[in-house]
Amino acid sequence: MRKTKLSAILGAGILASLVLTGCAEGAPPAAGGGGEEGTTTGEAPVFEVATDVAIEGSPTFDKITAAGGKVVVGVKEDQPNLGYLDAVTGERTGFDVDVARWMAASLGVSEENIEFKAIPSANREQAIINGDIDYYVGTYSITDKRKDQIDFAGPYFETGQGLLVGADSEITGVDDLVAGVKVCSATGSTPIQNIKDNYPEVTPVEFEKYSECVEALKNGQVDAVTTDEAILIGYAAQAPDQLKVVGEPFSTELYGIGLAKGDDALRDHFNTTLEEGGDVWQSIFDYNLGSSGTTVSQPTPDRY
Ligand code: GLU
Repeated sequence: MRKTKLSAILGAGILASLVLTGCAEGAPPAAGGGGEEGTTTGEAPVFEVATDVAIEGSPTFDKITAAGGKVVVGVKEDQPNLGYLDAVTGERTGFDVDVARWMAASLGVSEENIEFKAIPSANREQAIINGDIDYYVGTYSITDKRKDQIDFAGPYFETGQGLLVGADSEITGVDDLVAGVKVCSATGSTPIQNIKDNYPEVTPVEFEKYSECVEALKNGQVDAVTTDEAILIGYAAQAPDQLKVVGEPFSTELYGIGLAKGDDALRDHFNTTLEEGGDVWQSIFDYNLGSSGTTVSQPTPDRY
């Protein structure tokens, strides 16, 4: 199921082809890596740490420099394949986490100088505004409302809102979200807002994190979990006997890297890194999400 869904959402996306314009700052995967626990494929990407980086006019980069080259990055840690923390090994994996590492490397920051901070959907803008994090990479949809408070580099990925239900559920898609159906999503997310705005007859249930919604679904407390399909596919793959993703995506979610409003120099730097690093993007995709074997192109960054 993971295969077909992933190809469907990625195939359906309007993903512009990327023209490689120069030398990437990251490197293609090195030999010798390996997947863990069946959630990754092939070799782990390695990121070449840039040297002599100067980003003039970036308050965030100045702060990183003043901190001795240490960066604080906001992520998710309960979303398999995207942003995940293995509680036993302490290892962080996922497409978003690797994008975060790639961006850090482009700033001249190596892995041991990255501090990852888990921040839930509802607290992302404030964490950026407060300067608690230098940037955020975690299934963070670019929206005009969020752009009032922060800025986004990217997009670097496209997906759409979907539905996760119990394996024997009769819900087959968004048309089955009728009165009385309990639908769970994360506070402060675009999917919970979409449910409240456009499906007023259903009963919304909110938690801070999607993993809490998944628990509620498994316990029969809710009838469906809704968020981006890319996220739901990760949960379904962990419990294929209990959970399934149904229906077609019913929104477009473009993921961006959240950063301080007005830090145009950093936004430009990240956008250039994304644009010039198509091979790095592909290696990150293949490793974390590539078990479908689907070939996709990354979206072109929007230099708004
Ligand atoms: N991409 C959506 C959002 O940014 C849902 C996923 C999330 O909450 O991180 O709100």
